[in-house]
Amino acid sequence: MKIALAGNPNCGKTTLFNSLTGATAHVGNWPGVTVDKKEGWYKKLPEHIQIVDLPGIYSLSPYTPEEIVSRNFIVDETPDCVINVIDATNLERNLYLTTQILEIDVPVVIALNMMDVVQKHGGTIDVQTIEQTLQVPVVEISALKNEGIAQLMKVTYQEAKQPRKGTSLFTDTTLTTYIQCVQAKMEQQNVTNSLFHAIKWIEKDRIERSNQEVVIKDTEQWEKKIDTSAFDGDMEGMIADARYQYIAQSFAKMSQNKKGLESTTTSDRMDRVLTHRIWSIPLFLLVMFIVFHFVFSEDLFFLNGLFGIEISNPGWINFLTGMGYEDILAETIENGEAAVLAGIPSLGVFLQNWMGWLTGSVIDLVSGIMPEGTWYTGLICDGLLTGLDAIFSFLPQILLLFLFISILEDSGYMARVAFIMDRAFRKFGLSGKAFIPLLMGFGCSVPAMMATKTLEDEKERDLAIRLSPFFSCGAKAPIWAMLAAVVAGSFLGDIFVFSIYVLGIVVAIVSALLMRAFGKKVDVPPFIMELPAYHMPQFKNLMAHLWEKFKHFIYKASTIITASIIVIWFLSNFQWAFWTGMVDDISESMLADLGRVLQYVFYPCGWSMGQDGWKYTVASITGLIAKEDVVGTMSTLGLTEDTIALSNAAIYAFAAYNLFTLPCFAAVATAKSESTKKGFLVTMAWWLGASYVLSMVIFWMGKLFEIGWYLGLLAIIVLVVAMVLLGEFVVKKRKVAK
Ligand code: GDP
Ligand code: MG
Repeated sequence: MKIALAGNPNCGKTTLFNSLTGATAHVGNWPGVTVDKKEGWYKKLPEHIQIVDLPGIYSLSPYTPEEIVSRNFIVDETPDCVINVIDATNLERNLYLTTQILEIDVPVVIALNMMDVVQKHGGTIDVQTIEQTLQVPVVEISALKNEGIAQLMKVTYQEAKQPRKGTSLFTDTTLTTYIQCVQAKMEQQNVTNSLFHAIKWIEKDRIERSNQEVVIKDTEQWEKKIDTSAFDGDMEGMIADARYQYIAQSFAKMSQNKKGLESTTTSDRMDRVLTHRIWSIPLFLLVMFIVFHFVFSEDLFFLNGLFGIEISNPGWINFLTGMGYEDILAETIENGEAAVLAGIPSLGVFLQNWMGWLTGSVIDLVSGIMPEGTWYTGLICDGLLTGLDAIFSFLPQILLLFLFISILEDSGYMARVAFIMDRAFRKFGLSGKAFIPLLMGFGCSVPAMMATKTLEDEKERDLAIRLSPFFSCGAKAPIWAMLAAVVAGSFLGDIFVFSIYVLGIVVAIVSALLMRAFGKKVDVPPFIMELPAYHMPQFKNLMAHLWEKFKHFIYKASTIITASIIVIWFLSNFQWAFWTGMVDDISESMLADLGRVLQYVFYPCGWSMGQDGWKYTVASITGLIAKEDVVGTMSTLGLTEDTIALSNAAIYAFAAYNLFTLPCFAAVATAKSESTKKGFLVTMAWWLGASYVLSMVIFWMGKLFEIGWYLGLLAIIVLVVAMVLLGEFVVKKRKVAK
């Protein structure tokens, strides 16, 4: 037996799916996360039941990929029953979809979800009225609290055994006769689900009308009889209006004694601040800064940075915060040589210190056991462990960063960010809908690129794929964390990382503007998105997200990263005539030779100059395998926090290069399969070009700052003016196009 879950975005389908099947599928807060359908099994009835989680939709019209997927599934793959999940705090809006599902010849059960919220606010819902009006069973549940689930499945199981004929709610006689007439003609041609198809046909539905197998002639006479003057002759609009009126009339009384919407008003109040016309963007930046501060700052309370306080050598604080672990191990505290503690570190840095201590101890332990001077000691200690240590010591920070991003996502704030962005950039021809997959890029570009399926326009999809790696993904975070520790001692680490993320977003926006300026078509589809009420993020969900991340990280570290570290080690310890034995100095290795050739390519970007230049070059190249490899390679080649000798300008340029260049192979492959052919070529060129140019510009701007701050400032002003002019150009061009 097969059962489908259908409903609006954010009505709790995935939560219900997870509690039915015991799976921990990703529960996101925006429409579009669930593009592909998920399947699982419910095993608590005598017969095992297959459950399919359909993408969230507002209607069965053919305008978005989600709508088409869900519609085709219900109509063509004949599930035994559809559970229509409804957000009980938003009854009327959710019932709009219900009116369409009911037209299909399939058993339907309505699951009134979020009843816990309704009850919390003392509301009740008149289930009987709904059942009598719609003629299908209604079960109250709370997917989140796991309430009413068994009852729902029991009812569904019974319903699924009897076939059900589609029903329509229309009462207008002209319209119903028209429907009956088309339906009869369809039945003559053996069309299944004739009522549904007839109504879609009358709506002039794109898919229905292009269906060659169904021939319906001579219906103009009927059409003329129907008064669509209030809708500019738009049949679909007329029918949509009839549905809404029906819902309003049938359930108007009910909504009066339903008080369940108080939580929405709290949300509204929060939204007044968080989506404020002017303040929302600075607030978003502030929220991001706070996150980065908590994860990357070595001086959480600005003790050293703002107040210039240095706590000299209190051994116990050093110990507690993990700051002085090396000194503690070396027992230098007694000698009074321990480092000065520059402020209290953030949780991220604190955890990182302890993780560093842990991995450091493992390395010490292993190298203590291994025989000295053999090639395999070199491979394991200097190659593998050193490389993995560098990556693993940043694991706590990355997980913490993800925890914060998941909180922002689960609470409903990220959906607001898409809304804010849409409002700010719509007039430049950029839509908020495209920002949703882009925001997912903060996690990983691969799912972000796949989520672009939700965008209707091919060009827009190509563009979103192109820009998604600019939203710095989790695998790039170790690079920023490492460089943050180098830049300027204690206070600037968090600002450095924050600015990298902001730079990514700004460059993505400017890139989009450039594409709009030189592209032909400028047509922004309307962005209809209902903002979900703010939720307290669920601990279980957050942990599930983190666990997924952790598993992914371990998997990557134990496969592709380990393999590439071994290759790097080999290339960096042998000459071209590798049978002659290991080289004494890494700079005589094959890798050094390769790097020295490529090094010249990046000379203008600053970071590949000098003796270690080839190492940075090689690290950037290995980053193409997996971005974690950048840090892994650097430490295998002996570049660590303490030995990186780049100027701040060069560090920034190096970071920018790695942010904007080709993402890892997996992401490149995804981009190729999701883009159009031409789009993909432009994308590759854009990644290569943007990374090189930006890296160079940043380096030379840094140089200007070094000469004199006013020169740097001047350069920044020139850039900002250029951006404003570009923006104005695009706006003008769009106006002309209209
Ligand atoms: P989907 O878009 O339909 O798949 O919806 P999700 O399953 O992703 O749920 C959206 C949000 O609603 C999540 O934050 C869930 O935690 C929350 N949610 C789902 N079901 C319930 C429920 O019964 N009660 C409450 N309070 N929240 C719920
Ligand atoms: Mg979902």
